[in-house]
Amino acid sequence: MSNTASATTTTIDDNDGNNNSNDDNTSLTSAHYLMWFRRDLRLHDNTALAALCERARDNDASVSAVFFLTPEQWQTHDMSLVQLDHIARTLPILANDLHKQLNITLHVQVCDSFSDCVDSLDALCAANNISCVMANHEYEGNEIERDAQLSQLLAKSDIEFIRWHDQCILPPKSITTNDDSMYQVFTPFYKKWRHTLEVSNIQLHKALAINSDNATLKISKQTVNTANTIEALSQKVVKDYQQSLANNTQLSHIDSEAQLTNARAAYPAGEVAACHRLDQFVADDIHNYDVSRDVPSLHATSQLSAYLTIGAISPRLCYLQAAKAQEQEQLHGNNGDNEDINRWISELAWRDFYRHVLADKPELIQHQAYKHETDIKINWSYNEDDFDAWCTGRTGVPLVDAAMRCLNATGFMHNRLRMVTAMFLTKDLLIDWRLGERYFMQQLIDGDFASNNGGWQWSASTGTDSAPYFRIMNPFSQAKTHDPDGEFIKEWLPELKDMPASILHSEDKIRKAINSADMFGRLDYPAPMVEHKAARQLAITEFKK
Ligand SMILES: Cc1cc2nc3c(=O)[nH]c(=O)nc-3n(C[C@H](O)[C@H](O)[C@H](O)COP(=O)(O)OP(=O)(O)OC[C@H]3O[C@@H](n4cnc5c(N)ncnc54)[C@H](O)[C@@H]3O)c2cc1C
Repeated sequence: MSNTASATTTTIDDNDGNNNSNDDNTSLTSAHYLMWFRRDLRLHDNTALAALCERARDNDASVSAVFFLTPEQWQTHDMSLVQLDHIARTLPILANDLHKQLNITLHVQVCDSFSDCVDSLDALCAANNISCVMANHEYEGNEIERDAQLSQLLAKSDIEFIRWHDQCILPPKSITTNDDSMYQVFTPFYKKWRHTLEVSNIQLHKALAINSDNATLKISKQTVNTANTIEALSQKVVKDYQQSLANNTQLSHIDSEAQLTNARAAYPAGEVAACHRLDQFVADDIHNYDVSRDVPSLHATSQLSAYLTIGAISPRLCYLQAAKAQEQEQLHGNNGDNEDINRWISELAWRDFYRHVLADKPELIQHQAYKHETDIKINWSYNEDDFDAWCTGRTGVPLVDAAMRCLNATGFMHNRLRMVTAMFLTKDLLIDWRLGERYFMQQLIDGDFASNNGGWQWSASTGTDSAPYFRIMNPFSQAKTHDPDGEFIKEWLPELKDMPASILHSEDKIRKAINSADMFGRLDYPAPMVEHKAARQLAITEFKK
């Protein structure tokens, strides 16, 4: 990567806080603002960035930007290696774009914890005469505490800390029932959400280049601010993270190098790549989405979640592009209410819904179930062998195993398969949903607390508007419907490649086939670890208690 994002910097000695540099270009008179990037790694439609640039242009102020890599903190949040790598790959691109398009230099620093970020920011503001910090809201517990701490600290020095709602299409607490509370059911939420969007004419926020030249920032020695050095630092953090995960014996079945290679190939970094993917999806696959979204082997969903999660693409842009495609359909005299496009928009609404739920019930972050009374009466299992079979894709249920091996190898799993594997864990094996939730976060490139927690509690029937406890997916009939030829199963379970779909999709037949040596030779594949019908009955009895 070319070194185009370089800028002159001054250095603060970490030990004594003295400015060692003679290269301090910061004017004492002009105002200096700071953009703090978090999960919003883009220039387009970045609410805080656009607002800060506008203010800077009005006041002839300079703007600097900062991002903190916090690997230790993220490990406590179970961030996956592939997601950290995705962030690491995005940062140098962001630095380049900020420099070229907006005259802003991005500074990247490693901090162990969120409280270290607060201290660093406080010192940085003091050393650089920063009068205003802007960022976009985050809705998780530690993030909220961190922001509250910083807000208090900066207020003491009369420094403004302004946050904007940016992660959702419509912000939390904006879609409420008539008595101003959060909807507990998705459908009425969705109706109001759609209606609000139709009448509110949402706009994208465009950040305009600031007038003053790239501002120099007095920074600590560990901070880097050129695309090359940002890339080097970020990749070092990835390597160290990979190393520390290698010590986790529970994850010894993961080939992290292969997972990284696959995720890098599947998710080129940066907002341009993300927007290109959106354009392609809206031009093509969205028009068959209602049907093809449930067939994993087609890869026909947008695969934008990894970008949405780190903020490399704006959810409002996604919505507006889909709405535009809907208008085009109408212009061409096609069915005005295109079910495919509507369905995709409704998935974006699920993303908003779970964020709104989290903002309304922050205790969810502390592993509490939405339906606490249901959760506590279940005698959840913590059987390590069963959990290990599920994680490693050796349950003997082909669709579940193929899905888990796909997740382990790529860091991604199709939505239908997330539901099937989560239901199998929480209903057929009756294992505590929190274990599965955690494992998904550790592997998914799009791991996101609100959506992941929402999906897991939906599957475990402990969530808001979750699956009724008696509606338990049969993984064999799910395979028959959504992978009729066994294409997806055979891709990830090559040991079953010669087995006809009629056997793969029948619990009885596959059990017989695996137990009888002469049918397919000795297969290195287990027979189904539970009998679905009996396990289902057990789960229903447990939930009925
Ligand atoms: C057990 C379980 C765990 C999940 N964990 C996550 C997670 O950690 N991160 C995550 O982003 N999604 C999660 N999901 C939701 C969903 O599976 C993924 O968003 C989707 O598979 C991503 O693929 P895509 O981008 O091709 O989606 P598309 O089908 O193209 O949908 C477009 C976008 O809508 C959003 N979306 C789609 N379905 C859902 C949904 N059910 N809930 C919330 N948002 C949705 C995503 O942002 C997605 O990118 C989970 C679902 C389940 C059942």
